[in-house]
Amino acid sequence: IIYLKTFYTLSIGEMCILSGVEMDKEESSVESKECCTRSELVSEDGKNLKSVLCQRCGSKVLCPGMAVYSEKELFLPPMRNKKAPSLTEGSGDNLSAHWLVDDMYTFENVGFTNDVGRIKYLICADCEIGPIGWHCLDDKKSYYVAVERVDHA
Ligand SMILES: [Zn+2]
Repeated sequence: IIYLKTFYTLSIGEMCILSGVEMDKEESSVESKECCTRSELVSEDGKNLKSVLCQRCGSKVLCPGMAVYSEKELFLPPMRNKKAPSLTEGSGDNLSAHWLVDDMYTFENVGFTNDVGRIKYLICADCEIGPIGWHCLDDKKSYYVAVERVDHA
């Protein structure tokens, strides 16, 4: 009886593994779609092919080739047109695609919110819409601009 139970558990485990594989396949097909858009934005050496612009007013944030594509899970509050980001719980986005810049002088134009804990959010220098990016005071060489929250031209 013990042997049968073990066997039963094993086969359930195998089923889980099998369904996990199927899920991975679905995810990879979604990823390959993202890949096509990504290849329009990211050069072979991982840099931005196009200028990074404010979605609202078109202010230039970064020149082509100045930032490195970086995947990091970061939470950004919802976009709004004020210096202080909304801190409403449960809203905002977990974003994973970013342009990484190691020096704030690399930016053409960028603004920052007041500190929220150890975090400063990046906003458009001209119209102040944001947050468009993320910076932690503990890492002075990492400025992240969320790919989804800017335009590319
Ligand atoms: Zn703007």
